[in-house]
Amino acid sequence: MRMYDVITKKKHGEELSDSEIREFITEYTEGRVPDYQVSALMMAIYFKGMCDRETSTLTMAMSTSGDTVDLSEFGTLTVDKHSTGGVGDKTTLVVAPIAASLGCRLAKMSGRGLGHTGGTVDKLESFPGFDTSLTPERFFAQVREHGIAVIGQSGNLAPADKKLYALRDVTATVDSIPLITSSIMSKKLAAGSNSIVLDVKCGSGAFMREPEDAETLATKMVEIGKRCGRNMAALITNMDIPLGYAIGNSLEVKEAYSILSGEGPDDLRAVCVELATNMVSLALGYTAEEAREKVLDAIASGKAKSKFTEWIIAQGGDATLAENPALLPESSIKHEIRATKDGYISKMNAEEIGVSSVILGAGRETKDSIIDHSAGIVLVKKLGDKVSVGDTLAVLHTNNKDAISAAEAKFLGAISMSDEKVEVGKLIYKTIR
Ligand code: URA
Repeated sequence: MRMYDVITKKKHGEELSDSEIREFITEYTEGRVPDYQVSALMMAIYFKGMCDRETSTLTMAMSTSGDTVDLSEFGTLTVDKHSTGGVGDKTTLVVAPIAASLGCRLAKMSGRGLGHTGGTVDKLESFPGFDTSLTPERFFAQVREHGIAVIGQSGNLAPADKKLYALRDVTATVDSIPLITSSIMSKKLAAGSNSIVLDVKCGSGAFMREPEDAETLATKMVEIGKRCGRNMAALITNMDIPLGYAIGNSLEVKEAYSILSGEGPDDLRAVCVELATNMVSLALGYTAEEAREKVLDAIASGKAKSKFTEWIIAQGGDATLAENPALLPESSIKHEIRATKDGYISKMNAEEIGVSSVILGAGRETKDSIIDHSAGIVLVKKLGDKVSVGDTLAVLHTNNKDAISAAEAKFLGAISMSDEKVEVGKLIYKTIR
């Protein structure tokens, strides 16, 4: 294979052969192809696309480019869930213990926050002592005993994706459907679960801004997963505005726990119930109606909440806080943002609100930034709400007083007001199975 020829082919919109794709991935992972040639190929793929066969071959080649996790000892009970990333998206903290409390096995690898979006690993580390880098032996033992363990991504899982993603991030080639499909599915396939539920986010806080693009992405990922023998489902959900009211790590843990306690915001509960229903139905073979009933009962009976506490303690988290996350440390500064005019909230840009929370310390400005787990934003008003001058729109939580004015300006820039009440968009656009 001459890399020059592969780039030329794709530049002219021709299909690459399976062997060209496999060889390119092996050679690049092993450091024998330079970044500048791969950047050119990524840009050619961005403009010319890939057919289903090419995307599928690329995904498989990436998924076997390093370690793969063997979960066969758990039979068909393993289930994974993946979100394409959002603001205030704390659904894993809710659905993982629900599914585990009903007999599913969650042997899950999760990510850290990326840009304006949060990550499950950072949220879990709000609990002092919580260990997100268990040894493989402890990881498996915990799944056997408790049915649930969530750790950070293993160093050598889909290394081709690690290299490609870093390159795409700096060459403006992230938002390509075949490249996102192969990136996400290569990691999910390597992580070994028999069933996979995807939450494809759509709107101002997501990679996919339009529902049609989100549906294309979701359909491709479902097809590839099925072709690889996995049970698949994908939900397309709204990320035009943040999910729930809390944004920021320990604030989100508290809100997730409120859902497990039978309380909390309706939008968050609805997305969690739908995700968990699909997870339980795929992994345990129930119809959607049966699975939904079981999920609702796991919440109402307190079974899922107890599983959450058991999980946090098993993984080293402080027991008092695991039993009562409301006691997680709070920021020293709570700054209220007030409305300066009357009207209705007509737009909330989720990405900008995510950036505001990063400024407060909830995410990383650079790769090496240290997260302030208590920092973030609690929304008081959401899209469609009526607001009068002086009403509190949101409360900023931080330990860094120098961050407040920039975070407040960013937050206010994300909000638009109108004289008329606006329609709130659909929360769950579609489920694809
Ligand atoms: N998340 C991923 O893991 N990869 C992408 O390409 C986009 C989002």
